[in-house]
Amino acid sequence: MIADVAHELRTPLSNLKGYLEAIHDGVVKPEPDTLRSLDEEANLLSRLVDDLQELSLAEAGELRLDCRKRDTIKLLKQTVAVRQSQAAAKGISLSADLPKKLPLVNIDAYRISQVLLNLIDNAVTHTPPGGVVTVAARKLDNCLEISVEDTGEGIPAEDLPNVFERFYRVDKSRARATGGAGLGLAIAKYLVEAHNGEINVQSEPGKGSRFTFTVPVSK
Ligand code: ADP
Repeated sequence: MIADVAHELRTPLSNLKGYLEAIHDGVVKPEPDTLRSLDEEANLLSRLVDDLQELSLAEAGELRLDCRKRDTIKLLKQTVAVRQSQAAAKGISLSADLPKKLPLVNIDAYRISQVLLNLIDNAVTHTPPGGVVTVAARKLDNCLEISVEDTGEGIPAEDLPNVFERFYRVDKSRARATGGAGLGLAIAKYLVEAHNGEINVQSEPGKGSRFTFTVPVSK
């Protein structure tokens, strides 16, 4: 784990150092584009540190949930709305396809929307312009199933069993461009399991992916 962390920190740090040295030596001018790149590298570092902190709390069993009876329809609509303009800017249609009524669930709303945002962000990242991302929910036996489906690039069958592992990325070379360290789904799995739910994925390369997670219905 420490070796993985060191590896993840190295690239943004050496990029930051490289830029700063070049500015110092007068090779690069501190123009808006350069400053934007510096800012992007610093953002990557801070996202990584936030994710690591979250993961270490989860692995130590110290994630405290503030569970209350909730109506997920409002929560799902609000969470989708948060990412709507970002998706639209990429030419992706993001929408919620929800029934009029769903049973109440006993959840930590902040954590569940964190899981959902992570799945939506991944779907938008891995779907080309013109694609569609749909968030849906339905009642299954004694739980509620929430799904995020995209019409994106999909995930090869051999990678599917590993995507919830920490630091796992499907396309290693592209990972830097998409900014992730392969921690998002590991954290999402912890959060869902802390609610006694399950998270799963089905995917077909070239067609798209469907991530689902469940939370037990409130008694
Ligand atoms: P990251 O923070 O790098 O996105 P995640 O843990 O969220 O890491 O995801 C792990 C890997 O699973 C990603 O690097 C990506 O290759 C793949 N992945 C996740 N969601 C999708 C999706 N909706 N479509 C295609 N690939 C996906």
